[in-house]
Amino acid sequence: MATIETEAVVLRTLRYGEADAILALLTPGMGRVSAIAKGARSARSKQGGRLQPGVRLQASLAEGRGDLMGLRSTQVVDAGAGLWMDGYRLRAAGCVLEAAQRVVPEHEEAEAAFNLVTRALSLIAHAPPREGPPRLDPFVLGTQAKLLATSGLVPHLASCAACGAAPPLSGFSASAGGGVCDACLVGSGAERLDPAAADALVALLARPLAEAPGCVEPAAAPGAERLIALMLREHLGVTLRSGTPL
Ligand SMILES: [Zn+2]
Repeated sequence: MATIETEAVVLRTLRYGEADAILALLTPGMGRVSAIAKGARSARSKQGGRLQPGVRLQASLAEGRGDLMGLRSTQVVDAGAGLWMDGYRLRAAGCVLEAAQRVVPEHEEAEAAFNLVTRALSLIAHAPPREGPPRLDPFVLGTQAKLLATSGLVPHLASCAACGAAPPLSGFSASAGGGVCDACLVGSGAERLDPAAADALVALLARPLAEAPGCVEPAAAPGAERLIALMLREHLGVTLRSGTPL
């Protein structure tokens, strides 16, 4: 059977049977794939300790029957050591990995999402801990915003998403695809738009991920998280477990 050499980030690991593990991997060429690592959890395994969420690998994958690939061999490209030194960083990384797990499609090219996630993990691994919950970390929100973009779901915030009227926009309607004007807000079921949250989201989408901390004031972070979450729920049916409940 064909063997595929690829870089991959471990999104999550599940115990399987006595000694095996099933890994969710994010790859540039195939998007999200599942692979079984035989014997990964046995005491003699050389692989076991490497296959943690957030680790970046060079992997050799064998095509199997159905969707489950076989993990033949791995080399660590980046163990993400900085993530394991600090609870805040580990939880922020967990938010990034969950977003990728839930948003990136299986078996579709995903180079932009792969580069985004590896960049986010590297930035988080080297960032100082911040005030506030990791789910509102600027790198977490920046990653989620850019995953909207890779999914073709950039919210429309330059004019009314429903009628095209010029700003000011007073509401947000995920079903309309973005901000809405006063006239469209009335009776539409849209909610009030926090202008600071909208500005933060626009900046997160426009600027490189490394600049995310300058895009979101702490006071605007919950609102920006909410706008992203509303888009994910409306258009992908995804509610992130690591996020603030809507
Ligand atoms: Zn309108």
